[in-house]
Parts: sequence; structure tokens; C-alpha cells
Amino acid sequence: MHNWLSQDIVEVLESVWSNEERGSADVEEISIEAKTEVTEELLAECEREGYLMRTSAGEIKLTPLGRQTAREIIRRHRLAERLVVDVLGMTLEESEADACEFEHFLARGVTDAICTLLGHPRFCPHNHPIPEGDCCRQVEDQINSLVTSIDRLEVGEQAQIAYVSAANFPRIRKLSSFGITPGIPVKVQQKFPSFVVQCDETQIALERDIARDIYVWRKS
Ligand SMILES: [Zn+2]
Ligand SMILES: [Zn+2]
Ligand SMILES: [Zn+2]
Repeated sequence: MHNWLSQDIVEVLESVWSNEERGSADVEEISIEAKTEVTEELLAECEREGYLMRTSAGEIKLTPLGRQTAREIIRRHRLAERLVVDVLGMTLEESEADACEFEHFLARGVTDAICTLLGHPRFCPHNHPIPEGDCCRQVEDQINSLVTSIDRLEVGEQAQIAYVSAANFPRIRKLSSFGITPGIPVKVQQKFPSFVVQCDETQIALERDIARDIYVWRKS
């Protein structure tokens, strides 16, 4: 549906979504985030098309239609970022420049395929949540994933750390102090009673919810 949206409207919807994640959105905040000039005219167009509404306090909100549309755009944008960083191996700065362009190439069917390929990541490289798709609720897809969370590997299976998707930075720092950083080879030593991985020369016991945040490339 939004394949026919103008890029200006797409920018506004993305910006309102991101602002709503942090609380609320007024015109000024939306303008800062959007990569386009947010004019009164443009906002009025978004309202007319049924994507946005304004509260009496001057806040801008997504309508149900706007929310549904923005959700899909944001999903593609953040998956495109993951794709650029994890698979193409580019940096965040480069991905920042490319993700908005990239998202246009991801048609709906392809989006779920990319999501599956990447192991249904829950966060973009900026640690913003990626809205779930239908594919994320079908767990059997995980088997064919190129990238998957480490807790899904079998005992003895070898892989390479792709990224750590923890929403908290102390945890990422702690894991990297154990040597769990992108590019490092790992092997699952045991899964029960505790989850133990071999990372270089070191054996590390991981809590299961932490293991779920560590994404790896499977060796095929
Ligand atoms: Zn975008
Ligand atoms: Zn991001
Ligand atoms: Zn998915």
C-alpha cells in the first residue's frame, strides 16, 4: 500500500514512529528526525490521507492506518540495517546512509525472507526494536537461518559471533570482556544443565536469556 507513498510521507511516518517509541511527538521533534523538511503542508497531507492526527495539545499521533503503515516501513528499515551490517559487513555509518534507500527494495515477501535469513533479529544495530512479522512467529523457520541465536545451536556445532543484540550496553561490554565479540569463532560445549560455549581458548557458561541475545553465523 505504501509502495505508492511519497518519500516525504514515508519520512514523516518513520519519524513519528521513532518519536512515539520514546514518548510523544511534536512538530519540532519530528522535523529533527525526518530526513526531509516537515512543512505544515506536508503534515496536512498526512492528516488528509488518514495517517496522522493532532491532539488538542499539539501532539502528532499516528492513526491506526498510519501505525500499520509506519510499522512496516520501520520493520524494513531496521532489517535493511541488519542486512547491511551483518551480511554485507558495512559499518553503522555506511548503513545509516543506505538503510532508507535499501528499505524500498524489500518487498513484503522478501522482507520476511530476509528476516528469516537473519534469524528474526529483535533489534537493529542501534538497538531499536524491529517490529515482528508473521515469520517471527513461525519458529521452525529458524532451522534454515544463516544467522541464529547461539542457544539454538546443537552441542558441538561451530559458529562465528555475528552480533550481540542486548538492549543494555553493560551486558554487551561484559560479554566482550569475555571475548564474545563479532567475528570470533565459538563452539557449543554443552546445553544442560548449564549452557557452555568454547570461545577461543576459554569456556564460558552463559545464562539462557543472555545466550538468546548472542547471534552467530552458522558454519554450513
Ligand atoms: Zn527508512
Ligand atoms: Zn537502526
Ligand atoms: Zn521474522
